[in-house]
Amino acid sequence: MILTVLDDSPAALDVLAFAQSLGQPVEAVTFGGGDPDDLAKRGVSTLHRITSDELADYAPAASGEALLRLIEQVRPDGVLAVSSDRVTEAMAHAATLARLPLATNCVEVTTGDPWLLTRVRGGGMLLEEAELTADVALLTIAQGVSGEIGAGPVASCEVREFTPELTATQARVVERTSRGSGMTLATAPVIVSGGRGVGSADGYAVLEELAKRLGGVVGCSRVATNNGWRPHSDQVGLTGTKVTPELYLACGISGATQHWVGCMDSKVIMAVNTDPEAPLVRRANYAVIGDVHEVLPAIVKEIDSRSKT
Ligand SMILES: Cc1cc2nc3c(=O)[nH]c(=O)nc-3n(C[C@H](O)[C@H](O)[C@H](O)COP(=O)(O)OP(=O)(O)OC[C@H]3O[C@@H](n4cnc5c(N)ncnc54)[C@H](O)[C@@H]3O)c2cc1C
Repeated sequence: MILTVLDDSPAALDVLAFAQSLGQPVEAVTFGGGDPDDLAKRGVSTLHRITSDELADYAPAASGEALLRLIEQVRPDGVLAVSSDRVTEAMAHAATLARLPLATNCVEVTTGDPWLLTRVRGGGMLLEEAELTADVALLTIAQGVSGEIGAGPVASCEVREFTPELTATQARVVERTSRGSGMTLATAPVIVSGGRGVGSADGYAVLEELAKRLGGVVGCSRVATNNGWRPHSDQVGLTGTKVTPELYLACGISGATQHWVGCMDSKVIMAVNTDPEAPLVRRANYAVIGDVHEVLPAIVKEIDSRSKT
């Protein structure tokens, strides 16, 4: 039997169809939600609904522990989950507690011993063929992957409430603050992004000035967030935000793969770098070989002098 972990996103129904296409009975599990009538129409006869006061708010460790308790009870051959941030985090906690491997971002799956998997790696830059041997195969399915619904409708879907005793030390939400209005990295038409070459937190002042004049926002590489120069919400890349602006201006950024996968879908990329051989310089549409501390103030000055005339 395959257990599918669903949330309330449309992608969850893709995962359900994908699981059903693997030719095994499929049951569903949710953290509190799930529409049994809809699931019955989709051929699912059992919905395990995990309920607990501990799961009322964002609680990844508790969700993972609760999921593991359910897995121990129903003993599926595999667990397939939608690859949303929250469900993936719960799966990772379940896997850690159970000391089982977790294969994320699968796009092709063949059940068996071993399970044969194809996974998306490197932010979408490569496909990995993998074999997985485990008592229970824990997988997340990449967004956008679906399958033929294997089962016709069933008369009804039985809801089994599951309220486990939880012991994990919980991360708790203690405060919520709004992100504030205005542009974000995901929506900005222009991003002026800085890396190690900017040199310090103060060095970003000129990037802010330039972004303001170009109607954009400031982004950064992971070196900048690691050094505490910029908040993580500014980070572009594999473990930051994937961006698609009209113009991505990369200042003092070398263009490591993990950064490149976050900015490669920009319409136009311009690099400012002292190193003509830097990967980002070689891949950019335009490059200025020079020091960011000289090039950027000069651009700002030029924009200001043109806007006066
Ligand atoms: C699992 C994992 C996930 C990661 N995720 C991300 C991610 O999401 N985003 C990300 O950015 N990185 C990520 N990284 C880190 C990544 O591998 C690189 O280490 C990082 O992107 C390098 O940042 P950088 O280009 O600012 O620094 P560097 O690679 O050190 O490059 C600095 C560049 O600045 C140039 N330079 C120096 N001084 C000047 C100057 N005065 N003027 C002009 N140019 C100058 C240099 O020639 C060089 O090209 C990840 C790494 C791992 C292992």
